[in-house]
Amino acid sequence: MELYASTVWANGGFRSYADARVGLMTHGLQYGTGCFEGIRGFWNAEERELYLLHLREHFERMRLSTNVLMMKLPHDTDELVRLTIELCARNGFEENVYIRPVAYKAGEDVGVRLAGVPDAFAIVAVPYRRYYEIDDGIKACVSSWRRTDDTSIPARAKITGNYVNSALAKSEAQLNGFDEAIMLSHDGHVSEGSADNLFLVRDKMLHTPDASQNVLEGITRNTIATIARAEGLEVRERTIDRSELYGADEVFVTGTAAGVIGIASIDHRTVGAGGVGPVTRKLGEIYNEACFGRVPSYKKWLTPTYADRRVGAA
Ligand code: PMP
Repeated sequence: MELYASTVWANGGFRSYADARVGLMTHGLQYGTGCFEGIRGFWNAEERELYLLHLREHFERMRLSTNVLMMKLPHDTDELVRLTIELCARNGFEENVYIRPVAYKAGEDVGVRLAGVPDAFAIVAVPYRRYYEIDDGIKACVSSWRRTDDTSIPARAKITGNYVNSALAKSEAQLNGFDEAIMLSHDGHVSEGSADNLFLVRDKMLHTPDASQNVLEGITRNTIATIARAEGLEVRERTIDRSELYGADEVFVTGTAAGVIGIASIDHRTVGAGGVGPVTRKLGEIYNEACFGRVPSYKKWLTPTYADRRVGAA
């Protein structure tokens, strides 16, 4: 579907993307004072169902982000879930989708601040396009850009303005021939990728930077930790040094858009045996199956879009 013809939720109603305009002087655009989520829907063709993954968790994280920015989501989580389902159904998606709720400071006056500026909320949904077109492991580098610290712009909140940090790192990496950037925190410890969290595998144990390393507390990160533990792997959240990346058996990143992506090399050094390692591959496969509703014990993570709308449904 063409973006401008799609249906969005904006300014308290469903309307076409083309009719949902944002003024040039809007604070969210001028000052980066907004926050957002990235949610995915997985189209299961056999069941003709669009499964929305971890909807509630995304809106709960958005509540944290809005609170940091002195904004209020205009609906409770139940209502946000209902609106998202309705939005997907109205667009009639029969393919994988990417859903972008956004809350932003909507004032159009001059003067950077948070308090007392009105906010606005919207949800847009678009067909999902693969984030990395690479199946045999990506090439990563450690960025010269450091992750923003909690004392400047909290990475824990998914703040639009903070994506300048990610954009600087990602473009530097890509222009230097890499696929992704790994950012260090101010004090030089491993933080995260431009739009994903990082795990390393060493001696069949998973290690990931703890929540105080200026990371977004990723929902996929939690999901992978849950799957890994269920598979009998120990998962440790701790401070990780840069040089540990070079000695790991496997390194992978996780994110809603990216999924589970193996890293084949970091800073021109082969990671483990190169390519995508067995632990990464296994966890990625289970994650993928779960997203499409094919793992009964993980179906609780999914909200069906069409189940209650079919003729004859209760
Ligand atoms: N870190 C950053 C900076 C991100 O933008 C994302 C993507 N939302 C992630 C980590 C991964 O988070 P999640 O698994 O919740 O998508």
